[in-house]
Amino acid sequence: MDRAAILLLDWYDSHARDLPWRVKGSAKADPYRVWLSEVMLQQTTTSAVAPYFAKFVDKWPNVNALAQAREEDILAAWAGLGYYSRARNLVKCARQVAEMGGFPDTEEELRQLPGLGDYTAAAIAAIAFGKRAVVVDANVERVVARLFAVEEPLPASRKLIRAQADAITPQERAGDFAQAMMDLGATICTARDARCLLCPVQELCQGRASGDPLRLPRKAAKKAKPRRSGTAFWIEKDQHVWLVTRPGKGMLGGMRALPDDGWSARADGDGEVPLPGAWKAGGVVRHSFTHFDLELGVAVYAGDSAHDLFEGEWWPLDRLEDAGLPTLFAKAAQLVLARS
Ligand code: SF4
Repeated sequence: MDRAAILLLDWYDSHARDLPWRVKGSAKADPYRVWLSEVMLQQTTTSAVAPYFAKFVDKWPNVNALAQAREEDILAAWAGLGYYSRARNLVKCARQVAEMGGFPDTEEELRQLPGLGDYTAAAIAAIAFGKRAVVVDANVERVVARLFAVEEPLPASRKLIRAQADAITPQERAGDFAQAMMDLGATICTARDARCLLCPVQELCQGRASGDPLRLPRKAAKKAKPRRSGTAFWIEKDQHVWLVTRPGKGMLGGMRALPDDGWSARADGDGEVPLPGAWKAGGVVRHSFTHFDLELGVAVYAGDSAHDLFEGEWWPLDRLEDAGLPTLFAKAAQLVLARS
């Protein structure tokens, strides 16, 4: 076994983080919990994921239970975690796995499931099934870039980083090794800090030897995100607000939302209002999506003839939290309610 792997596994045995989806020692990991946590952790921090994970396993304790749940209930339970395509893929994946009679145990078969890319398939194969797999997420990328002093900037250096990670991944305990690397990146060799004196691989680290490990990994300059703008409409009547369900395909598809002017289908909304009459400005919400930043104005209906609009429902204000609004619209609702 590579010396780095020996040191990391020793360190993991005494320093592994306690995470709700993690089992330690010889206990067997449950593929359902590993899969659920890994999907939730894509682009999301462990502290944000923990309460969602607890809620999901409480409501749907196994993959068959999740497969039988209604998609709208899963989307509502997911609300606030963001990247909603993950939730839609979660439903599809659960149904496929339930039909197959359980999760497949190879990286290759796992990669065929909805929503599972290279990283997630490798993580599940290693952590849930003990298969040797090279698991590289952003934390691992950083640790490897520092450990081997990879000077080439990301993303071009990904291939090299993967090859270096491959070289130190052991045949035995690949799941623990992957989690040890993730823990090291999350607690000691972090984006902002390198606490080298506490690090189990300090004696091997070329980044540390160079005197300035924090400069790594280098990153190619990012292009600024495009900006979009749009308007959401707040229409209130008798302590209820009008909510729509967004079309199944497209941004935030299948989720309840405030009606809007179509900003998600175009670069900017077209400004059409759903009701004639008086409107007043309710403030502006800023939200960053993967591919663009959005500035969403909130228009509040100030007329006296609020009536049913096309496809939607009057939702009681005192139960707004149960509507499962995605973060963007939850922020808009908070803004209006705080001002009223
Ligand atoms: S020695 Fe320092 S830079 Fe190197 S892996 Fe450990 S914490 Fe990171």
